[in-house]
Amino acid sequence: MTIREGRWDCQYCGQVGILGREKSCPNCARSRPEGTRFYLPDEQAAASEQKLVQQAKIGPDWICQFCSSSNPANVAVCHHCNAAREGSSPQQEVKTYRPGEAPKSGDMDLSTPPPARTVKTKAATPVWLPIVGVVGVLLILACLCGGFFLFRSSETEATIESFNWERTVAVEAFRTVTEQDWDVPAGGRTISQEEAIRSYEQVLSHYETRERQVSEQVQVGERTYVCGQRDLGNGFFEDIECTDPVYETRYRTETYQEPVYDQVPIYDTYYTYEIDKWVPDRTERAAGRDQNPFWPEVPLGEGERAGPRTESYQITFLTADGERHTLDFGLEEWLSFEPGGSYKLKISGLGNDVEVVR
Ligand SMILES: [Zn+2]
Ligand SMILES: [Zn+2]
Repeated sequence: MTIREGRWDCQYCGQVGILGREKSCPNCARSRPEGTRFYLPDEQAAASEQKLVQQAKIGPDWICQFCSSSNPANVAVCHHCNAAREGSSPQQEVKTYRPGEAPKSGDMDLSTPPPARTVKTKAATPVWLPIVGVVGVLLILACLCGGFFLFRSSETEATIESFNWERTVAVEAFRTVTEQDWDVPAGGRTISQEEAIRSYEQVLSHYETRERQVSEQVQVGERTYVCGQRDLGNGFFEDIECTDPVYETRYRTETYQEPVYDQVPIYDTYYTYEIDKWVPDRTERAAGRDQNPFWPEVPLGEGERAGPRTESYQITFLTADGERHTLDFGLEEWLSFEPGGSYKLKISGLGNDVEVVR
């Protein structure tokens, strides 16, 4: 492990940059107090002197409880007052820093800001924030207005301009028709038949050997790097090393079997047949612009019958603004309107949702 010698500042006389190996200030001779901040100047070279490396490795300093002197970990009595080290004697703290987080200045650097993590800086308001705000308000306004126009409803007086009705009856005829299908229904008489492709089936034909490239991650070694510094609590720092596996992408060719399918047609018998059945022939229609609907006459010839019926009833309203609205009704409600009568219409949406208020 790489050892680097730290620095510290004397808080009594203001001396800065004191070498980590010094337990006392070379200027005022005061002992290094507990809690002194050790720091690493930029580009501090590794300590190469064996004596210093050993000094770094013996552990954190302990502080004499009687005279507050800083003592190396490998001595049992205070070098200043001879008092014995006790179990309760305080030690300089050992700290671990992430890369780049080790302090670069000591206790006398008043400009040093506290660690970034504990600082609560008020984030500057971005220039674009007011713009976003204005755009947002405009959007909300636009939505509200759009909603107002879309969902507002108004009531307006309208008079009945006209009635309209239509009734139809389908006429069916019993005829002989020619049809084609895979089966002949009951009553059908086969005219001709042929074998035709009805569907296809996927049938496995064989396998083909193919090649493909596959990649895999192979560990080819390890990478060791400095992932932080440890303040050893005695004026020295140690580089912390981390190791990551190093991978390489390797490619290889592998063979595989791919199934090959044949499209096999499935044949079936396709029939042309004739059959007697009821088929639509024509539609009889009655309509009017009054309130007296009737069903159309349905004259039936030989082999004819009446089929499904339809009916529709409408009223066209004319508003005071000159707008016309034509609405559909059921027969009973439609009959209950007075010709020329005045009614209230509720118009909502974009004018296409109209109903009568009664
Ligand atoms: Zn001093
Ligand atoms: Zn002492």
